[in-house]
Amino acid sequence: MKIIAVGRNYLEHARELNNPVPSEPVVFLKPETAVIKGNKPFFYPDFSQEIHHEVEIVLKISKVGKNIGEKFAARYYEELTAGIDFTARDLQQKAKEKGLPWEKSKAFDGSAPVGTFISKSAIRDLSSFEFSLDINGSRVQTGRTSDMIFSFDYIISYVSRFFTLQMGDLIYTGTPAGVGPVHPGDRLTAAIEGRILLDFEVK
Ligand code: MG
Repeated sequence: MKIIAVGRNYLEHARELNNPVPSEPVVFLKPETAVIKGNKPFFYPDFSQEIHHEVEIVLKISKVGKNIGEKFAARYYEELTAGIDFTARDLQQKAKEKGLPWEKSKAFDGSAPVGTFISKSAIRDLSSFEFSLDINGSRVQTGRTSDMIFSFDYIISYVSRFFTLQMGDLIYTGTPAGVGPVHPGDRLTAAIEGRILLDFEVK
């Protein structure tokens, strides 16, 4: 499986990092070794002094597709959850300055903790629902999917032009504003509409 992630999909987040608002999705990949499941801890890596949390809605692809039309895209995922797109912001900043690829800052081991998947039918309106991240019990990020620049269906359609989607692939759909550092000892708790789906510790 692979992880396809979209960057800068929420206006306020693009602005907080002084990035331009994209006219098409900013896309990058993470390998399977990035995934952390089952609320297992995230071990702070030794190559970064500035790991940031980015809470995101994660879609799980349920069937194979290529060049998927936007109006059919909803048929290609049945479940979703909340996940963290951990980012080594110090390495990413260096890469951005030099115009180099982002992999070391985005795709490292453990950079994609993913919560318990729920049926998309459990959500009344997929185009507008709330999700959040708490650190040690304090709210640090709140997002609403109606604030996405590119919708779930548009993202699926767009990325499937470049990458064949396979069962079990994950799509990280971008983070709202409020990203910031995590530290060893922090407890991260992510929820969709108040329902906790991810709860783990940074070690
Ligand atoms: Mg992200």
